[in-house]
Amino acid sequence: MKAHQSSFFDGGKRLQMTESIELTIQSLQAYLPDHPDVGIAWSGGKDSTATLTMIVWLIESRKIPRPRSLTVFYADTRQELPPLAIAAEQIMDELRERGIRVEVVTAPMDKRFMVYILGRGVPPPNNNTLRWCTRQIKIDPMQAALTERIAEFDGKFLMITGVRQGESAIRDQRIEMSCGKDGAECGQGWYQKVLPDAKGLSGILATLAPLLHMRVCHVWEWLKHWAPLVEFGDWSTAMIADAYGGDEAEEINARTGCIGCPLAAEDTALNTLLRNPAWAYLSPLLGLRVLWRELREPKNRIKKAGLERLKDGSIAKNPQRMGPLTLEARLMGLERVLGIQAACNAAANAQGRPRISLINAEEEARIRELIAAGTWPDGWEGDEPSAETVMPIVYQNGAVQPLLFSAEEAS
Ligand code: SF4
Repeated sequence: MKAHQSSFFDGGKRLQMTESIELTIQSLQAYLPDHPDVGIAWSGGKDSTATLTMIVWLIESRKIPRPRSLTVFYADTRQELPPLAIAAEQIMDELRERGIRVEVVTAPMDKRFMVYILGRGVPPPNNNTLRWCTRQIKIDPMQAALTERIAEFDGKFLMITGVRQGESAIRDQRIEMSCGKDGAECGQGWYQKVLPDAKGLSGILATLAPLLHMRVCHVWEWLKHWAPLVEFGDWSTAMIADAYGGDEAEEINARTGCIGCPLAAEDTALNTLLRNPAWAYLSPLLGLRVLWRELREPKNRIKKAGLERLKDGSIAKNPQRMGPLTLEARLMGLERVLGIQAACNAAANAQGRPRISLINAEEEARIRELIAAGTWPDGWEGDEPSAETVMPIVYQNGAVQPLLFSAEEAS
């Protein structure tokens, strides 16, 4: 049995923790009797891992009714921070040892983050353009997995999410649906909002967030000190803190999502992880954000030459808009990511630390195949000019502003 670690929770604060868990128990007791089949949406981040391990412990200790079926849906984006990915693997083993069904939910090959960018040529997401990534690598695969699983049941399915807002949100009676807030896991609010509207699932699927009220200090207390104890399930949750800043995780309150997320103002989770000497060997990962930014530059993209007529016959709002990545830029990006992966793994081998997988062999083969086939996103042919080409400006009403100096005039 692992040693009990003392914490400031011993004593009076422990009572608060117990009260918080009691609220979780009450919410589950209210919903479980009407929903015999239960799923848990698990991202591997702190809130959903606390939710998952606590619920399994509550079932095993008979504090809540055992559902007729329990399925854990692990959303594997292939972009997780290494300590989270490693902890998730261990926890999946611990779930399977208990006979709990675990489904690893991954986007179809061509929709995965790396394949979509480097194979299909869609530019990395940023805050100014449509953010395709959260829906594509997190929400849609989860909806598809759920739809398939729910077809096996009659009656209502209860999907449990790790959405947590803490006490202030409960007080305000307001649930923030954004997934970009400090300390949140990218996509977490979306599960609550999007999943019940999934095609064919409305009316059958209910969602419940039994840790909605829980304070972040209680989540850390559970993951670091309670869950690893045999009496609470003997879970491999302690390593999760590393991805959020180790012992200072609570103060840093990092938002976690993909490694090198191009949308985060600062990659706090990766930066704090690298300050931990045990994980410093992963510093080449810092090159990912640099690469995503570089790929969005005009020299790596093509653009529309003038007015663009859309499928519905209307004129696109943004004539001469910049579009996909050139084939050369995609190959360059692929080599850079493979180089980052190789550098991390060489250091991992030398130091006896865990290896990482940014692009696996299957994904690399698919990316090369898509590039070799000259694949372009919908609406693009690949014969459009380089986005660096200087040309007369075309306005949406068709007006053209000629260049002040054309190449011939200048020569
Ligand atoms: S963490 Fe960033 S890159 Fe990943 S899905 Fe969320 S917004 Fe997109």
